Amino acid sequence: MGLPAFRAGQIVTGLYQNFAQSWQEITTLPAGLRDALAERFTLAPLETVHIHDSSDGVQKLLLACEDGERIETVLIPSRDRVTQCISTQVGCAFGCAFCASGAAGCVRDLTSGEIVGEVMAACALMRPPVPEAAAPKPGAKPVLPRPGNIVVMGMGEPFDNYDNVLRALRILNDQKGVNIGARHITISTCGVVPGIRRLSGEGLQFELSVSLHAPNDALRSRIMPVNTRWPIAELLDTCASYTEKTGRVVTFEYTLVKDFNDRPQHADELIRLLRRTACKVNLIPLSPVEGNAFERPDDRACLAFLDALLKAKISTTLRKSRGKDVNAACGQLRLRKMQG
Ligand code: SAH
Repeated sequence: MGLPAFRAGQIVTGLYQNFAQSWQEITTLPAGLRDALAERFTLAPLETVHIHDSSDGVQKLLLACEDGERIETVLIPSRDRVTQCISTQVGCAFGCAFCASGAAGCVRDLTSGEIVGEVMAACALMRPPVPEAAAPKPGAKPVLPRPGNIVVMGMGEPFDNYDNVLRALRILNDQKGVNIGARHITISTCGVVPGIRRLSGEGLQFELSVSLHAPNDALRSRIMPVNTRWPIAELLDTCASYTEKTGRVVTFEYTLVKDFNDRPQHADELIRLLRRTACKVNLIPLSPVEGNAFERPDDRACLAFLDALLKAKISTTLRKSRGKDVNAACGQLRLRKMQG
């Protein structure tokens, strides 16, 4: 629009630090310019159509896009910060057998604006109700609450929508943007090897998680069709190059499924597989999804699996599942709503 560059700074501050919901709220801009911007650019923040409050503090938001599609994002509070889990696609094309997101395939990619919009919706929710007069003064350092961690573990496969996801994460990470540190942003992939390769060349410090879920190809291919395209050996090689290139250690996610991959022999096999790799392992007890037969192992099996890996000196955590009463696992809320 031929405006001086400092206007861009005012817009970025208004949008990503003061979380303006409309152009009119960015009072650092002249009124005429606000009107002109409103004519040309919709801010279109996603509409929050439903908030599920779980008894353990987890909140799940169902958001409506402009075209009516529904996506979900989850806020997980801990002692000192909120972790937000964000979606990257409506649905998912990868069809992991235990996951609700892929149940109906991939409808479409989210735009970078929609992905950032998920975080804006969370910020709006976290914002304390303050009278107009107490709103941040133009130029004052904003102190509005925002998520401390972002995990790209909601609906969709981030590397199947690579450009939009990276564009959104750069805005979330930028000091002038939402200003969430790169080490506090985690991308999770089901194992899309070209995406991992591409990320390793970006010069970014985001955390990378890879969904492994099985210690051998036969087992992995049964629950993750992606494995027939990029089998375990190729996946692990790519992760090793990623670490070599970036100096960042990869976390392998391993969803524990009762009697499928949770037995002591599976732990042994996983230890042999990962022994020579610098990595971390995050064990996730399955969150059962209606319509498939997979079950969650009991706590004893999960703890025994954790113990075996720790004894083998593999840095391992066991995720405490929260938000169960709000269907907070990947894609569950949207699936529920679709089923009525
Ligand atoms: N597509 C990406 C990110 C989204 S899913 C990926 O696959 O990594 C985030 C994590 O949740 C993945 O490890 C996924 O396998 C896991 N997950 C999906 N459904 C689950 C369920 N019902 N119970 C436990 N973990 C699940």
